[in-house]
Amino acid sequence: MSARGRHRRQGSRQLSRRARISLLITAGAAGLALPLAAAGPASAAPASYTVESGDTLYRIAVEHDVEGGWQQLFDANRDVIGDDPSRITPGIQLVLDAEAPAAEAPADAPAADVQESGYVAPVAGVSGGGYGNAGALWSSGYHTGADFPVGTGTPVVAITAGEVVTAGSGGSYGNEVVVRHADGHYSQYAHLSSISVAVGQSVGAGEQLGLSGATGNVTGPHLHFEVRTGPSYGSDIDPMAYLRAHGVSI
Ligand SMILES: [Zn+2]
Repeated sequence: MSARGRHRRQGSRQLSRRARISLLITAGAAGLALPLAAAGPASAAPASYTVESGDTLYRIAVEHDVEGGWQQLFDANRDVIGDDPSRITPGIQLVLDAEAPAAEAPADAPAADVQESGYVAPVAGVSGGGYGNAGALWSSGYHTGADFPVGTGTPVVAITAGEVVTAGSGGSYGNEVVVRHADGHYSQYAHLSSISVAVGQSVGAGEQLGLSGATGNVTGPHLHFEVRTGPSYGSDIDPMAYLRAHGVSI
């Protein structure tokens, strides 16, 4: 059960730096340097730029060092630019230091709906099935978990608080995370495309463990989710019944 580190990702929770632009304000043609004190609180006002004839979003972004480039400039000013980034009208005002909407709040981030019991579904919005199905696909002769039909890149969260005991490549399970919970049960999340926790880490209910994927022995992307009464393969119980018993409507 040794965890290999190469699939760990530490950066997923980092917030992107705000794109901040400091405009150098020159006083008339003389270009007098303003006293530092005068530049203080005034910087709270958003930096803006008035489009001139011949400007392009690309050039404005480069000249003003806009983090995220022209796409960010376009996204932040859609209401004044319209739908065509190649046509910007002279005279319109562009906000230069707006936050990049995509980087701040991914649209697919689930609102983890943690129950009073302290439990939540491993992925938002879909149910899983197939537990106990017989088949030669599985080494035990039956399906030891439930499969949630989600595409690659869907956030996968801890169903309840616990400690990460496995985080890495698990053979036919692909990239997997196993969490040990206070009631002695283990939850397993398999075929992940990326892992954002490390062995020994404490996680809370609804805390993101990684992203769903299609690693390991799969025919397509999905989350394979198991609940076990002990650390070993074969000690599985019906994971959907376990979630329902803890108040999760699924
Ligand atoms: Zn499965």
